[in-house]
Amino acid sequence: MNSQGITILGSTGSIGESTLKVLALHPDLYHVIALSAHSNVVRLAEQCKQHQARYAVISDKEKTGDLRAALNALGCTAEVLAGCSALSEVACLEETEVVMAAIVGAAGLEPTLRAVQCGKRLLLANKESMVIAGELFRQAAAEHGAIIIPVDSEHNALFQVLPANFDQGVGGVGLDEVGVEQLILTASGGPFLQTEYAALKNITPEQACKHPNWDMGRKISVDSATLMNKGLEIIEARWLFNARPEQIAVIIHPQSIVHSMVAYRDGSVLAQLGMPDMRTPIAHALAWPQRIEAGVDRLNLADMHKLEFYQPDLERFPGLGLAFQVLKTGGNAPVTFNAANEIAVDAFLHQRIGFLQIASVVSAAMDRCKQGKITSLDDVLEYDHLARDVAEQVVNSLV
Ligand code: NAD
Ligand code: MG
Repeated sequence: MNSQGITILGSTGSIGESTLKVLALHPDLYHVIALSAHSNVVRLAEQCKQHQARYAVISDKEKTGDLRAALNALGCTAEVLAGCSALSEVACLEETEVVMAAIVGAAGLEPTLRAVQCGKRLLLANKESMVIAGELFRQAAAEHGAIIIPVDSEHNALFQVLPANFDQGVGGVGLDEVGVEQLILTASGGPFLQTEYAALKNITPEQACKHPNWDMGRKISVDSATLMNKGLEIIEARWLFNARPEQIAVIIHPQSIVHSMVAYRDGSVLAQLGMPDMRTPIAHALAWPQRIEAGVDRLNLADMHKLEFYQPDLERFPGLGLAFQVLKTGGNAPVTFNAANEIAVDAFLHQRIGFLQIASVVSAAMDRCKQGKITSLDDVLEYDHLARDVAEQVVNSLV
């Protein structure tokens, strides 16, 4: 296999670092074209040096000088590019064959969508962009022949246990044709699965960011604690697999060993299992349809003793119930849901609102924002801005 050129959008984050660890195991298979960070110039410079990146991209333009200085100090010759448009530029370079979309939040939407429009192989971790612009991604992938491989562990698991003739929406056969009844997403339940409702009120950001099984960025850690993450993931699954809302289910599985399941018409249920380590889905997405070493611990089921499964409690975790409604409503509802959640999580992380108020802010913003249709990127951006303003107002009314 020829060495493939890879660009990582958001290389200094949790997924970005894990991706670089997998790449380091396979210097013969991949070479780095561009790496990007929002503001962490020191780490970005170190990564560019270690992985001999051709371009170092900093999205916060004000940090351009700092990045140059950090690269010079290391004797690294990577070319510096700055600003949001530079992210789209490196995603579409001819030398870039594979794009890892690992920016957090709607901020990742434009370069991620551009990668698909440029026909790249997209490894999708940035779930928020698929949640808010799923239809645009499907259209662009079909039009430009791009392949989208999910990195989110649940969706990567589903991708692995769907049959090879199931096509990810690029003109192939759909879920009904391959006999799929349900996509069952597992959820760990987060750190507060057993916490009494009354105690949730006083949860701190530090407690919310300590996930029992996964080591992740702060935003997704909070989303996992509220189950908003699972809410985003059911909408992500809807678009990635062209599923109807009633074909998507969630089950709590505290051990995070079964990463998701597909239930077929004949009663068979196929699951993908593995240690809770993102290097497995990253390695899978990189190499698919081949398999490469991921550097992870092997699963030893005899050591696990038991794997448990429960119904999610939608009263204690109202964000997931809200997401099921959003899934059915469609249109701009996912955009509003995601934008309000991003504002609410940020307010919680800055200790402006309490843990339980995250879902209340999202619910109030959903009630106040008008419904609409999404037909273009401009529609997404407009509804995203409107929802952020409304959610900010709701937060301000609470503090
Ligand atoms: P993180 O916070 O650790 O890293 C985010 C990256 O995005 C950093 O490189 C940061 O510099 C960059 N970034 C942040 N804001 C930006 C902006 N405004 N413009 C440009 N770049 C910006 O996040 P993470 O945990 O690595 O998650 C990344 C994405 O992957 C998220 O969408 C998350 O939901 C998804 N995901 C993460 C995991 C995980 O285990 N961490 C698992 C599944 C899916
Ligand atoms: Mg996930």
